[in-house]
Amino acid sequence: MANVTRDFFIGLSNNKCLNDQAKKWGFRLGAEKFVAGTNIESVTKVVKDLNRNGISCTIDNLGEYISVKSEATAAKQELIKIIEKIHVEKLDCHISVKLTLLGLDIDRAFCIDNIKEVLDVAKEYNVFVNFDMEDYSHYEQTMEVLHLFKDTYPLIGTVIQSYLYRAADDLEGLEDTRIRLVKGAYKEAESVAYQSKEEIDRNFIQLAKERLLGDAFTSIATHDHHIINELKMFIADKKIDKSKFEFQMLYGFRTEMQYELAEEGYPFCTYIPFGTDWFAYFMRRLAERPQNMNLVLKDVFYT
Ligand code: FAD
Repeated sequence: MANVTRDFFIGLSNNKCLNDQAKKWGFRLGAEKFVAGTNIESVTKVVKDLNRNGISCTIDNLGEYISVKSEATAAKQELIKIIEKIHVEKLDCHISVKLTLLGLDIDRAFCIDNIKEVLDVAKEYNVFVNFDMEDYSHYEQTMEVLHLFKDTYPLIGTVIQSYLYRAADDLEGLEDTRIRLVKGAYKEAESVAYQSKEEIDRNFIQLAKERLLGDAFTSIATHDHHIINELKMFIADKKIDKSKFEFQMLYGFRTEMQYELAEEGYPFCTYIPFGTDWFAYFMRRLAERPQNMNLVLKDVFYT
């Protein structure tokens, strides 16, 4: 049953027509709890508030599966404005970007040019840029882009998904690169990805421990308290330096635990999406946690 619900919401997240329509609706279905407004000013306000509480942030300008060049160009300009804002306002913040937002599905060379422009500004202002990992059809290309740029732009990284069989092998080439470790948010085939929660969790814990023992920085991105508690014990036991990792969670999820971890002295970063293109992001969150449906029902029946 859980898999049927998950497949249903993942199916909705991939529906281009609904994604396009939702941009015109404004926030609906309770999405505003998980998305920090539609513009740079609204997201900046949220970042400043979290920074005041010792929490660093990463901003995601929502949008993916872009198929028109003008939209990718507009997204690039918006990302550059965000980086400038981070610099001017001295925010403790970096950016997360999906390469399809910058035109990966349109034309690879066009996308590479867009990325380069964003990375040039990020380098000038010393702002870290993380390439979010999308579904498996974009995996190889995202890795290629990372390897293409990582020597010229040291302040870049990407995401490794523990549901992929190849995750451990791919991490072997990334011992010098900042990585966000996640379980993986998409529906992937049995030929490439573990399907059971036990295997995905086991792989996550193993990869996290290996990374923590290595040299490069790792963002441990999960809301799973079982995993967080196990890794907290590992970190204490192995005396892992706090400069080598952070915990990450999504804006609007387990907010109390986010503050608790920061108060306990763990480096913590909140991933903050903003923008009008919220539908696919929100549907994936419903796929992971159908309990969020309560919000949807409230929105439908009480507004
Ligand atoms: P789950 O397996 O969803 O939950 C495990 C357990 O934790 C649950 O059974 C429950 O007991 C508890 N729990 C979880 N959420 C809650 C809650 N809200 N309230 C109470 N208890 C809860 N995926 C990608 O594919 N690419 C990316 O680039 C990417 N970036 C991400 C960035 C961040 C910062 C985070 C946090 C996730 C990202 N993801 C990304 C999504 C990720 O892959 C998972 O799909 C998502 O995080 C759900 O898995 P989980 O590890 O949080 O725990």
